[in-house]
Amino acid sequence: MIHINRVKKIYPSKNGEVRAVDSVDLEINQGEIFGIIGYSGAGKSTLIRMLNGLEIPTEGSVTVAGYEVSKIKGKKLRQARQEISMIFQHFNLLWSRTVKENISFPLEIAGVKKLDRDKKVDELIKLVGLEGRENAYPSQLSGGQKQRVGIARALASDPKVLLCDEATSALDPQTTDAILDLLVDINKRLGLTIVLITHEMHVIRKICHRVAVMENGKVVESGPVINVFKHPEAEITKRFVQQVIELEETKDTIEHIVAHYTSGSIVMLGFVGENAEQPIITKLIRSFDITVNIIQGKISPTQNGSYGTLYIHLDGEQKDQALQFLQSQEISVEVIKK
Ligand code: ADP
Repeated sequence: MIHINRVKKIYPSKNGEVRAVDSVDLEINQGEIFGIIGYSGAGKSTLIRMLNGLEIPTEGSVTVAGYEVSKIKGKKLRQARQEISMIFQHFNLLWSRTVKENISFPLEIAGVKKLDRDKKVDELIKLVGLEGRENAYPSQLSGGQKQRVGIARALASDPKVLLCDEATSALDPQTTDAILDLLVDINKRLGLTIVLITHEMHVIRKICHRVAVMENGKVVESGPVINVFKHPEAEITKRFVQQVIELEETKDTIEHIVAHYTSGSIVMLGFVGENAEQPIITKLIRSFDITVNIIQGKISPTQNGSYGTLYIHLDGEQKDQALQFLQSQEISVEVIKK
């Protein structure tokens, strides 16, 4: 379905050039869910954008669903894009249009008659599980619902290929799982080929058949997901596999903690920067009639500094007010047990 042949994308820069994608060869089969993983700057976005002609390779060729997207323009490219749809991290919905109108939009552009459009939109609403929300505006939807609209809109033109650009990176873990389940369902039901890019290995493990690992514009390792997990070869792949192991260990610890506390609430706080949580915890203890137990905390380095998670247990009279206070702060708050 997809042939990526010795593709390079070189951008000019002040100090010479950036090799965003550097001699990549990939073959992706029809009906496959193919993942591309790498840290920020690895070249994933540039590569996926070349699959629907949003970027033109400096060298090499890209063929998707029978279209040589690296060569075509104008009407032919618009035709190809009916077959190659895309969903995005921040959904890219039209904010002044309802759910129904957002999904219908590509059909309107394609000149499909109103009656046929409505029929198709109804089918898509059912497929993605948005019944009852047809007339809502994007601002009235949760993140997961917004992405369901994005998926339905992408499927409106009956594409053969769905490109997913960090499609779950703005969603919490439960919603991520639900959206990934939906993608698997669509892949099975419609036989759609799915290509997704991510920096999260658990996403790859949950739904992809094969994976390519990118670093500095190159594919450093690729193969069936099961094999890559069993025998990661490149250093970077080993780090990604370790990421999943740690995530699972944390999940086990949390289940243990939830079982241990029979009363009170358990909350996970996510914050950026070392000690960024301290003023918030101090205010929490001083302002409310509650007890706060810090269960576990961890700072993880990221590309742009550090990201911390802290699990706390809250109990006492003003537990609900304390929860509300946390949710009003500029940190991410996930209530694990109410
Ligand atoms: P990823 O999606 O893995 O984060 P990108 O494909 O966005 O990686 O970027 C790969 C490299 O190409 C980075 O060094 C980035 O700064 C550079 N790059 C991406 N787009 C452009 C552009 N339009 N102009 C110049 N450099 C770019």
